[in-house]
Amino acid sequence: MILKGNGAAGGLAVGKVFVYLNDNKVPVESFIIEDGEQREIDRYIYVKKQAFDFIEKIKYLMQNHDPQKAAIFSAQQEIIEDIVINEEIPAKISNDRWTGDWAIYHVYETVLTVLRQTGDPLISERAADFNDVRSLLLRIWNGNEGNHLGALSALKEPVIIAAGDLMPSDTASFDRNKVIAILCERGGSTSHTAIIAKSYGIPAVMGIHDLLDYVKPGQLAAVNADEGTVILEPDEGVILEYNKRIGEFYHEKQVSETFLTKEACTSDGIKIDIGLNISDASLDGAQYADFAGLFRTEFLYMGRSSLPCEEEQFSIYRSVLECFTPQPVILRTLDVGGDKKPECIEFPPEENPFLGNRALRFCFNNPEIFKTQVRAALRASVFGNLYLMLPMVESLESFRKAKKIIISVKEELAAEGISSGDVKIGIMVEIPSIAVTARLAAKEADFASIGSNDLCQYLCAADRMNSEMEPYYQSYHPAMFTLINETVSAFRKEGKPVSICGEIGADVHALPVLIGLGLRRFSMNASSVASVKRAIASLSMEKAAEITENVLQLATAGEIKQYLADNFARTSRQFYFNF
Ligand code: PEP
Ligand code: MG
Repeated sequence: MILKGNGAAGGLAVGKVFVYLNDNKVPVESFIIEDGEQREIDRYIYVKKQAFDFIEKIKYLMQNHDPQKAAIFSAQQEIIEDIVINEEIPAKISNDRWTGDWAIYHVYETVLTVLRQTGDPLISERAADFNDVRSLLLRIWNGNEGNHLGALSALKEPVIIAAGDLMPSDTASFDRNKVIAILCERGGSTSHTAIIAKSYGIPAVMGIHDLLDYVKPGQLAAVNADEGTVILEPDEGVILEYNKRIGEFYHEKQVSETFLTKEACTSDGIKIDIGLNISDASLDGAQYADFAGLFRTEFLYMGRSSLPCEEEQFSIYRSVLECFTPQPVILRTLDVGGDKKPECIEFPPEENPFLGNRALRFCFNNPEIFKTQVRAALRASVFGNLYLMLPMVESLESFRKAKKIIISVKEELAAEGISSGDVKIGIMVEIPSIAVTARLAAKEADFASIGSNDLCQYLCAADRMNSEMEPYYQSYHPAMFTLINETVSAFRKEGKPVSICGEIGADVHALPVLIGLGLRRFSMNASSVASVKRAIASLSMEKAAEITENVLQLATAGEIKQYLADNFARTSRQFYFNF
């Protein structure tokens, strides 16, 4: 059987499927018909023990590399053994004849309702633990033991993960050497799961309809993420063919890797600066980059039950700055909301979270969280060359307001005798309103980086997370190149640095146009650096100008895509996998 989705992070893989069920399904209200109450209670006791033992295993695995997470799991074991819950569930089974799964669901729901109503953030964290424990119990009840919290951090062999979607905390917790491909029912090609997959060099296919109805745990699958296809139970011939292509893929990868240590220069000697997109202090590939072009700091807030404190942030920011000094580190202030919702932050429900309380707006609404981060960053700034970047700026009013807060924090620090460096304050250009008025923004902001992922989402009014919207989410839309052009010209005119850090910046097909529009600073995941350097080396400025001129004449994203693909196939010196 062949399943089809959107290839979101290229590459091929053949291996066993690991079905990861992280969706919370509500059991149906149901009652015991015959005299089965004691059997149901015994089963509950068995499930409870399984859950406890499962968490024990995860705790053991986490102890060494993340003691804080290990503590969360101890708290969850206490919940499993909670006296009141353990009186209530058997009572509901024997007195009201509820089935075990319904009793578990309902008794936990009663506790959760009380906890949620308090509005206290500490108690909400506790609610998240109750919710996780309930999911685990229900999964074990339904025969999915082991497939729960921490399951991805405890993978024993390399697998293809199949899931509804992965949360950033899921992708943050797995061992990247144990995941050979990712398949998801939901998510688009610039969703965060896709970005993480690309950054790890893991092939990913998103938006596969009803994936979980088709795949079975342990089933063999052949994934072609370049084409967005998955073959379930492939025959010998397919396996041989895929293994051959995987071999070629790695050969091409090796050829590209010979470019890693070189400077990125066009064939006629124009230097292009390559930046690294990072999400924590693990800086693989930093030695091959000229700067850190996007530090997605929100990932420091993921997969934990409490906010990172100033000290913790300070030491991470310091180590990143020290690693890159004297080169710039573009540290993006907290960009949460939308699809990025760390467990340690409570978000009030909203109709349109992507147009709501997110990024800089969230920071304005939560000044203490913002100021803590800014304090940590400013303190760390003396150890390197800090560029502080504000996400989701829609107007200069917001920019000025944020800048004022940053300056006030700087003054507070100075009053305490703590110095900070000469920090640049810039903007992420990812909302069309600021891109259209880039000539005004370029006068006030010290620098800009183009966030093409969100820019495309808001420009085309197409949800980047929704795979159904993929045809409308057009990174090659002529309007995208118009706005990139506006932004680059405006900042270059003011003599201020401008870079690109969205996914299009690592797209070797689009590269000639971006260079032709004047971009000289590209930031990307470590896994793209080699192929981008290789593509730059085979491009002349004359060719880039010619391609750009032609692209600017084309009317649709489809025409541009075709033209760039044809051009790439014609001009690349040898067969070249796009990875
Ligand atoms: C972007 O929007 O292009 C970007 C780089 O930021 P993120 O993908 O984290 O939203
Ligand atoms: Mg963005």
